[in-house]
Amino acid sequence: MLEIRDLTTSYGPVKALDGVTFTAARGKITAVLGANGAGKTTLLRTVSGLIRADRGNTYLDGLDLARMPAEKMPGLGLAHVPEGRGVITELTVEENLRLGALGRADRSRPADIDRVYSLFPVLESRRSAVAHILSGGEQQMLVIARALMAEPKVLLLDEPSLGLAPRIVVQIFELIRGLVESEGLTVLLVEQNARSALSIADIGVVLDLGRLVAHDEAAALAADEKLRHAYLGF
Ligand code: ATP
Repeated sequence: MLEIRDLTTSYGPVKALDGVTFTAARGKITAVLGANGAGKTTLLRTVSGLIRADRGNTYLDGLDLARMPAEKMPGLGLAHVPEGRGVITELTVEENLRLGALGRADRSRPADIDRVYSLFPVLESRRSAVAHILSGGEQQMLVIARALMAEPKVLLLDEPSLGLAPRIVVQIFELIRGLVESEGLTVLLVEQNARSALSIADIGVVLDLGRLVAHDEAAALAADEKLRHAYLGF
C-alpha cells in the first residue's frame, strides 16, 4: 500500500503539488488525472525521490520514502516508468531487460527474465532485436517490462499512452490491467487520456493546480458529468 500524505513540492516559486493526500490501494490501479500542469508528473517524480518534497511523506507499506534517494527506490519495491519511451535504442530487447534487474532487492538469485517474457510474448520473439527497430507500442511494453525486472510492488507509470495509436493504447492498457490481476501489482497511472484510464482503473484521483480535487471509484468519476467537463476533458 502506498500512502501519500500532505505532499507539497515546488519548483522555485511555483508550487506544483499542494498538500496532496491519498492512498493507492494494494493490488489496484489508481489513475492520476488532471489537465496539463495539474502536477501529475511532479507527483510521480516526488514519490520516486527524483524531486525532494517541501513537506509531506510517502509511505510504502509503512516505510517513509520521503528522504530516500531515487536510486534506493527499486530495491524498496518501487519502480518508475517516466514519460517518453526511455529504452536504450542501441541495446537489444534482452539487454534492456537485464538492465532493469540491476536494482532488485534480492540479487542472490538470477533475474527471472522468462517470467517477464511470459507476460510480454512479443518481446520474447524480438529478444535479439536492437530496441530502435521496435514500434512505439513495443517500446512502451519494453520499458514497462524492464521496470518489472526489478520485481516491484508498486509501479508508477507516466503517460504510457503518449503518442500511440488508439488501438495500441487499448492493448497497453489491457496489458497493465492483466499485470495487476496476475501479479498483484499496485499501480499509479498518470494519464492525460482520462476516459481510457478510467476504463481500466479501479480508483481515480484528480489534480488541479497541484491540489487534489476528487478521489473516488473510477466508475463514479467517469459518471460525474460536472467533474468530467471541469477537469477531465470528456
Ligand atoms: P503535463 O501533463 O503537461 O506533464 P502535469 O499534470 O504532469 O502536466 P507537471 O508537469 O507536474 O504537471 O507540472 C506542474 C506545474 O509545475 C506546472 O505549472 C509546470 O509548469 C511546473 N513545472 C513542471 N516542471 C517544472 C520544472 N522543471 N521547473 C519549473 N516548473 C516546472
